[in-house]
Amino acid sequence: MTDCIFCKIAAKQIPSRTIFEDEDLIAFHDINPAAPVHFLIVPKQHVATLADCDESHADLLSKMMLLAPQLAKEQGCGYVAGEQDAGSGGFKAQFNTGPDGGQEVYHLHLHVIGGPRPWRGQR
Ligand code: AMP
Ligand code: ZN
Repeated sequence: MTDCIFCKIAAKQIPSRTIFEDEDLIAFHDINPAAPVHFLIVPKQHVATLADCDESHADLLSKMMLLAPQLAKEQGCGYVAGEQDAGSGGFKAQFNTGPDGGQEVYHLHLHVIGGPRPWRGQR
């Protein structure tokens, strides 16, 4: 897509603070972070929304979701399974989808938002 900002980031036509890249995905810090850690996992292939995905996107979605805890750990907001009593660690992983889902950029992306409970006081 010629006019898509995340396609342009994937193609290196505009810069980003990249934290991960392979043949299918790129991950970079959100330019307007909502929390101490806030990065986006983005497929290099243009897909507009989660609602545009079908079985053919299953491997891509799986890869995005499995990358989230790995990069969260590297960025300092990882969670170790079974440590829910430890009182720290963890993140939100979120696909905003469509206007009522708060989606602003219509190129599929997974928000990973973490740090020391940035959403405390929110739902
Ligand atoms: P959404 O509302 O789910 O579509 O989220 C889009 C996200 O992309 C927002 O959190 C923006 O801050 C972020 N964003 C927009 N442009 C850029 C950019 N050039 N680099 C990094 N993040 C961006
Ligand atoms: Zn795109």
